[in-house]
Order: sequence, then C-alpha cells, then structure tokens
Amino acid sequence: MNRRRTATAPERRDARSSVRPRVAGGARLSVDNSLATGRRAWLASAVVLLWAASAVAAAPDWKQLGEESADLLANVIRIDTTNPPGTETAAANALVRKLTDDGIAAQVIESSAGRGNLYARLAGRGTGRPIVLLSHLDVVPADPKTWRVPPFSGTREDGYIYGRGALDDKGMGVVELMTMVAIKRSGQELDRDLILLATADEEAGGKAGAGWLVQHHPELVQGAEYLVNEGDAIHEQAGGKLAVQVGVAEKTPCWVRLTAHGDAGHGSTPPPQTAVTRLIRALNKVRRYRSPIRVTHPVEAYFAALAAQEKEPLRSKLANLAESLDDPLFLAEFTRNPRQNALVRNTITPTVLTGSSKTNVIPAEASAELDVRLLPGEKPADFLATLSSLIGDDAVHVDPLLSFPASSSEPDTAFVAAVRQVAAAEFPGVPVVPSVVPGFTDSHFFRDLGIESYDFAPFVLSETEEKAVHGTNERISVENLRNGVRRLVTLLRALPAPAPS
Ligand SMILES: [Zn+2]
Repeated sequence: MNRRRTATAPERRDARSSVRPRVAGGARLSVDNSLATGRRAWLASAVVLLWAASAVAAAPDWKQLGEESADLLANVIRIDTTNPPGTETAAANALVRKLTDDGIAAQVIESSAGRGNLYARLAGRGTGRPIVLLSHLDVVPADPKTWRVPPFSGTREDGYIYGRGALDDKGMGVVELMTMVAIKRSGQELDRDLILLATADEEAGGKAGAGWLVQHHPELVQGAEYLVNEGDAIHEQAGGKLAVQVGVAEKTPCWVRLTAHGDAGHGSTPPPQTAVTRLIRALNKVRRYRSPIRVTHPVEAYFAALAAQEKEPLRSKLANLAESLDDPLFLAEFTRNPRQNALVRNTITPTVLTGSSKTNVIPAEASAELDVRLLPGEKPADFLATLSSLIGDDAVHVDPLLSFPASSSEPDTAFVAAVRQVAAAEFPGVPVVPSVVPGFTDSHFFRDLGIESYDFAPFVLSETEEKAVHGTNERISVENLRNGVRRLVTLLRALPAPAPS
C-alpha cells in the first residue's frame, strides 16, 4: 500500500489541548500539553507512568517481546500464503500455537477448506465494549528473481526481517498477537475484551476472509466499539520529520473488466477491426481521460491539518485545498505526487491484459482489467456508465469485478484521543492526523457493522520501507516490531472505558 508523508511541526490544536489520561490503579492526572511546558509535562507523565507501572506490576520486557515477535514473524513468512490460492490455515495454526503456549484460547475458522481465519479473545473487566485487532494472513505474489533474499525465507539481516508479508500484513498480525500475549502475561486485565482476528483473502477483496466472517459469524465481534487495522502508520520523511496518521476513510475499489469481441481468424489476413484492436482503442480512450478533481471533506481536513508544518505559500494553499486546486499551476504541481493525485480524483489503472496465446491466431476475445479507485461518496454504477460512454463501442463490454460503497469512521473518538496521548508522550510536537487511505482494507466490513475502525499500524516507516509493500525486498525492522507491541499495549491501556452510568 502506498502512503504519503508530509512535513511535521507542532499541531496547534493538539498542542493547546489538555488531556486527562487514565492511570493504572484508577488515579487521574492532568497533563498540560502546551509547547512551553511540553518537555516538563512529558517528564512528569513519564514519572507517573513509571510509578504506576511499578506500583501495579513489573514493566513488560519489551526487548523479549520484540525478539519473540521477530521469531514468530519469520516462521509465519515461511508459510507461503500467496493469494490466490491463499491457503491461510497453516499460518493461522502457527499463530494458534503461539497463543496456546501462553494459555490464550484461540481457534481457526475456515470459510472453505484451507481458507483459515484466526480468532482469539482475551477477556477484560467488562466495563468497556470490546476492541478488535485485525490483520490478514494472505499475501500478494513475489517474484524471487527480483528479490535479494528468497521472499518466503523470513531472513533476518541487519536488524530486519525480510519476506513477503513482513509489512503487509503478517508483521501487523504478529505485533497484535504479541500485544495480546503481553497483556495476558502482565496479569492486568483491560477494561474491555480484546479480540484478535487474522483473516484470509484480504488481497483479493476479503470475500473468503473478513467478509465471510462478518456474514457468517457476526457474533464474534458483536458489540465491539473499535477496531485497529493496517492501512496507515507513523510516517518518516527523508529529513526525519514524522507524522502519525490514523486512517479514518478509504477510497473504494471498483475493479472492472473490459472485454472486446471480434471474429477469430488467421494472423496473416486480418480484418480492419479485431478484438485486440478494439481493446487497444478503448484503452487509449481510457488512458487519455482525466477524471474530475473533487476535494472531499476528510481529504480537505487532512491537508488542512498538515498545512501548519509547511512554509508559505504552501501552507495557505494546503489550508484551503479545494480553492487552491482551481489554480492550474498548483493543480499540476500537487497532482504530480501520485498519492496526492489519488486523494482528489477517481483513478483508473489498467493492469491485466489478455488476448491470443499464439502469434498467428486472431482471438475472438481480448480483455483488460482496470483497477479503478473511487473517492468516498462516488457511486460505482455512475462510474461504469461514464466508462461505457467514454469507450462508446458496443463490441467492448464493461463488467464490474468488485465494488462496494465507501465507508468511514469518526475522527474525534476516545480512540483517536488515546493515539494523540500516546503519540504526545513518545513524539512530542508530532502531529496526529486523521487521514484518507488511497487503497482499501478490510475495515469497511466492520465499519458496516457500526464498529469505529482505524487504519493504524504502530510502526515508524520510511518511504523506502513503504515502497516495498507489494514490491521487492519487503522488510520490517525488529525495532518496529518491539516498539509496535509497546505502542499498542500503551494505547490499549490509555483507552478509557466509559464511566459506568
Ligand atoms: Zn494488506
């Protein structure tokens, strides 16, 4: 998945706010987060947290948890779950073994033979509604010829675990699992039940994984308030500046197949039009088409939140993005960045092409698949109608392969407040920005159930690391695994349960 990082500076709204974190043992403290006292406040909260930790239980051994995460991740990477066909059950079983070793009951639920989904639940005190930690077990294909280590070797080198799925999404799954293990080992229950899901089939749209689970076993997540999933992260720019991005909305896929028809025949005596030439003509029209610019509310809010850390004139332009994009010069500059471009328009990407399998045979059919991503609020049916009229050829059929309505979550919940609190302690002055994810994840299945779902991997990722997702030499640092467990445990402990009424 691709992501954007934009500069970093103190976020005013956050800097002025006064948060009241809940401390283990029931004590409450008020932390003044203003810029002037940020450092003092950070020290004060660190002291209080240390005190709270020592008063209640020994602090978790993060290093040990990081090493266990690294070993488990290497094992799970070695179980090839390339989708298709996925065959995720073996990977789910490996996770079950780890949980069982720590006395956590877990089960594998198959949507069909071999398509396993992991489910585990750690009971809390029951004062809050459950929270779900979600990941997926399947991975996209990897071509070993382009990798420097075999993609399913789980090689550990220079502090990194290499392999397909290291970031997308087995690393996330392992960190979520070890978070559950850390909480179990601490003996300190959360206010709420913790639900762990590692599902099949995300890379093909989730119909045999998360989609199947919410349809056939909605009771597993019934009453859950929040969900944490892949999709966005803590981004590190080239200069080392950070931005903590929590995905609250996603673009929605509308995958399409174009099928062109014509007479089959011998390649030596071609008619004026064939299935292949019709397809090329249609694709050329698609290639030339520029979809209209539309700045949705969450995208406008996202760039406005990032604007504060930019210099003028960019600062003012980002603060009023919709207006700024009326300027053709700024529009050209802004959309040169592929991720920025994807956030303000529908995109159409031709990917799969098929025609004849023989040079001298004219096929009766040729087809192309388009990876179309629609902005939140767009209707797939409207887009398909636009595409058909754009192509304007009855011999080219337009068929949807996958689509669902866009969904989003609230940017101002106790969960996002807890992320702000944890981020302020670890990264003082770094903005926490509710974001729109240009890709899509399984979050929409759970948003449809009314669960506030957030795309937030607790990893600090550089541009290079993020480029390896679905690419070559995918890897995650052991440091990210260790800190990921620490951040997630801290976040869950900072998340208040509503006061009993
Ligand atoms: Zn993924």
